[in-house]
Amino acid sequence: MEPSDVVETIYFVDEGIVSAVALMQDGRSVEAYMVGREGFIGSTAWQIPAKTTVRYVAQMAGKSRRVEARRMREMAARSHSLRVVMATYDAALQRELEQSSACNAIHTLERRFSKWLLRAHDRADGAVLQMTQEFLANMLGSQRTTVNEAAQNLMRRGAITFSRGRVTVLNRQILEASACECYGATRGTADGISRVDG
Ligand SMILES: [Zn+2]
Repeated sequence: MEPSDVVETIYFVDEGIVSAVALMQDGRSVEAYMVGREGFIGSTAWQIPAKTTVRYVAQMAGKSRRVEARRMREMAARSHSLRVVMATYDAALQRELEQSSACNAIHTLERRFSKWLLRAHDRADGAVLQMTQEFLANMLGSQRTTVNEAAQNLMRRGAITFSRGRVTVLNRQILEASACECYGATRGTADGISRVDG
């Protein structure tokens, strides 16, 4: 899906990782958020007809289940428990976006990169992450050379190996120490939210 497309399908991710990327007029881009099996793609279209505002990029191939947005709205209108599940994820995403707007403004690239790797690793089930420096630079809204410097630092400290477009996480503890507080603050997206029962 591209920005301005009407959302006709909601995708529930079972496997793999999809990045929602915000595009600027000059061609630059930055990842707004990441979706794995904790979430779905389709924004608010499960509630009201909606258009996408971001580009969705599969950063790790996987599987998803799809439901027509119109059908989803009919089901949600009938089921309180379905609305609660969907709204809980929306609220978690909202929380994550609030956190990441502060993160992008305040935290260093190396800290954001570490957070990003941990979040991808959480969703990749331990697999090697296949991604080029150019892709990472696009996701982080940064220069390739800056991403390369951060990667070299993390490699020296034994957190990752990075070669030929493959990132392997060797030591999560080092990566967690290197990541900004935003990783812990929004960990697990949908389960990172406190729900008030009753
Ligand atoms: Zn941060």
